[in-house]
Amino acid sequence: MRVKFWGTRGTRPTPGRNTLRYGGNTACVEVRTQTGELIIIDSGSGICELGNELSGPVNAHLLISHTHWDHIQGFPFFGPNFVRGSRLTVIGPKGSMKSLQSAFADQMDPVYFPLTMDQMPVELEFRELNAGESFEAGGVTVTTHTMHHPIATFGYRLEDDGKVFVFATDQEPYADPEELTEKVAQLKREGRPPEELEALWPNRYIDWCRDADLLVHDAQYSAEEYRHHVGWGHSSFEYALLVARQAAARQLAFFHHDPMHSDHDIEAMVEEAVGSEAHRKHRGLIAFPAAEGQEIVL
Ligand SMILES: [Zn+2]
Ligand SMILES: [Zn+2]
Repeated sequence: MRVKFWGTRGTRPTPGRNTLRYGGNTACVEVRTQTGELIIIDSGSGICELGNELSGPVNAHLLISHTHWDHIQGFPFFGPNFVRGSRLTVIGPKGSMKSLQSAFADQMDPVYFPLTMDQMPVELEFRELNAGESFEAGGVTVTTHTMHHPIATFGYRLEDDGKVFVFATDQEPYADPEELTEKVAQLKREGRPPEELEALWPNRYIDWCRDADLLVHDAQYSAEEYRHHVGWGHSSFEYALLVARQAAARQLAFFHHDPMHSDHDIEAMVEEAVGSEAHRKHRGLIAFPAAEGQEIVL
């Protein structure tokens, strides 16, 4: 598997001199499978740059973590959507405020965009899945896991030819057992499937991340910042590192950089969280901030 970051930023695009190294585009990751199939994860503004690189019609799976802006806003500007013969299977979590298809279509309402989604030549198929469900995409086995975030959100675990890539962003730790219990009660009241409830328990989360050759994990905040952002649906560098260690991941890419963080800030926070382990292999783990344009072969 080859993994390439086209957008690493969270919340909103952040262009400018201070974000040149790690990038200003919002979430988008390209995966090329062993057999050359294309899987795209999230369609933040980074997907526009990916689209510029692709030529001719595209046949791909687009896995959507959730429908917050920073994960779908690039979709109307994705070049292959306007090429006849392009085909996208768009996959995302069931149980959000509106259907996946509606969330995509509504951001192309004529008030916001000159073409509706139906007017684009691309052939689109939308599929909503339950948490914990597995499926096959481009010959790769993909397993979903519910993230702890304000709306229905998936992480995706991809297994291809013995290699494991885990994408886990917009995820907050369940710091408080009471909060976890309340969340489980709420989902029960909503009549959600039992697998989804089980998926919330932290040990299930670690198991789902287990033995990742590359774990891309939410790390929006420093430990200090996180104290002021409990409930916002994001992790600290420290938590990402804890998950990676417990899951025995081989590489950890800190992801979903806060728009207020410059390249320098990110490096300082990584240094604080990881210390001398940054960019170096230590106890089997390499940890680094995900950078736009960076490519990793697994
Ligand atoms: Zn986000
Ligand atoms: Zn979000």
